[in-house]
Amino acid sequence: MSSQAHPDIPAPLANLKIQHTKIFINNEWHNSVSGKKFPVLNPATEEVICHVEEGDKADVDKAVKAARQAFQIGSPWRTMDASERGRLLNKLADLIERDRLLLATMESCNAGKLFSHAYLMDLGGCIKGLKYCAGWADKIHGQTIPSDGDLFTFTRREPIGVCGQIIPWNFPLVMLIWKLGPALSCGNTVIIKPAEQTPLTALHVASLVVEAGFPPGVVNIIPGYGPTAGAAISSHMDIDKVAFTGSTQVGKLIKEAAGKSNLKRVTLELGGKSPCIVFADADLDSAIEFAHQGLFYHQGQCCVAASRLFVEESIYDEFVRRSVERAKKYVLGNPLNSGITQGPQIDKEQHDKILDLIESGKKEGAKLECGGGRWGNKGYFVQPTVFSNVTDEMRIAKEEIFGPVQQIMKFKSLDDVIKRANNTTYGLAAGVFTKDLDKAITISSALQAGVVWVNCYMVLSAQCPFGGFKMSGNGREMGEHGIYEYTELKTVAMKISQKNS
Ligand code: NAP
Ligand code: MG
Repeated sequence: MSSQAHPDIPAPLANLKIQHTKIFINNEWHNSVSGKKFPVLNPATEEVICHVEEGDKADVDKAVKAARQAFQIGSPWRTMDASERGRLLNKLADLIERDRLLLATMESCNAGKLFSHAYLMDLGGCIKGLKYCAGWADKIHGQTIPSDGDLFTFTRREPIGVCGQIIPWNFPLVMLIWKLGPALSCGNTVIIKPAEQTPLTALHVASLVVEAGFPPGVVNIIPGYGPTAGAAISSHMDIDKVAFTGSTQVGKLIKEAAGKSNLKRVTLELGGKSPCIVFADADLDSAIEFAHQGLFYHQGQCCVAASRLFVEESIYDEFVRRSVERAKKYVLGNPLNSGITQGPQIDKEQHDKILDLIESGKKEGAKLECGGGRWGNKGYFVQPTVFSNVTDEMRIAKEEIFGPVQQIMKFKSLDDVIKRANNTTYGLAAGVFTKDLDKAITISSALQAGVVWVNCYMVLSAQCPFGGFKMSGNGREMGEHGIYEYTELKTVAMKISQKNS
């Protein structure tokens, strides 16, 4: 889809100016304590967009002091009506909507996102997600409990405290909102580290946090690197919770750091190698398109990517042929430009990792149907690639590729495909395509995944809990459960002279 092809999408902002490149603490802009800055690139052109202040441990310490101060008993934030927190979140959503064109243009330049997707999907998702969380602010209830004895007993859902939040580069704004929204709705204060590749939209949102009227110290944003600023957050003795989205490998480090420091609460949203299962009785046109989008959306850089596609034997050849035809339709180029349907990968490291996995597929005997290499000589582009005759033990069938590379496998029976689909350390998402209700229910119950899509794929919304089984994560984000992940549950038992029923 090109930007101008859609009637509701304006052209990208012509002269994007980057205003905010500093560290955001206490509603003010700070230089890094070390004096260091780092370059931020446009992955389509490899050009430097700007330099951003590089946060590290000393900057995290400053932010923790501010966030702790803002969380003190009696502070403006702690004494604020819950409905007022909701109003501030709604205001922030309105300001993001006001700046939608600027933010979508920035996200497209910095994250290599098709402008139309950034404008419609990412910004649309952010605004709705924030409003969803705003609505929760004054609906986070405890209970009264008929405990034994002369007691009046109730529970409170209290904010946890200072929350560290570490986010990735694939959905910089959406991940920011998925972290900020629930945390602030419950009354926490936050310190966010955006991914090193994509700090720009987070810093613009920081300016909107001030404009919306949040008290100083409630939101702090530290651009910087994972092993320095990120590790300072996960190992900090005065941060009460860390929420992380990214690789399983770093997720393990986060949990370890939490365990070795103050046992801070940890929620993790990690990677996946999600199965998508297509039975011969499925609506084939729809299954091919969903499976295609489920893998190729945003250049394959989605944690839920349908990267193990199992197709029933009798329709396998036709499915492959038509999937290849579909994959060959892309027009690669600068994602800001009209008519472009595939942008670049985020950086050289990811680009090279994808090419290495493609080579492994060729070597291990998968059949390369199309693509299979880099595209152009500038920018981190990878040709849309389809492999058929993929078997379960190949690297491309086991490892998260995070690129535009589709693996199509064959299956014979329901029992066999359930076993194979679950034979992975991951458990984030899964899809099943069939018109048979019995099969759909059997499969959706049997698959070990945090979300199962039936006759659709990659349908995410703020109202639904999202997260992984097994090594795809701990805890859930968004939905009612995602809100509660930002609360501590307290029981208060009060001695009274005599209880009555
Ligand atoms: P990553 O390293 O896990 O990055 C995610 C976030 O964690 C970034 O903000 C990163 O900072 C930070 N981080 C890195 N090391 C850290 C540490 N020791 N302590 C605390 N924070 C740390 O992911 P990546 O390197 O960008 O991508 C690698 C692979 O991860 C991808 O190929 C893909 O398979 C997977 N991935 C998954 C998701 C997802 O949505 N689940 C998103 C992105 C990537 P830096 O920016 O400095 O790295
Ligand atoms: Mg990294």
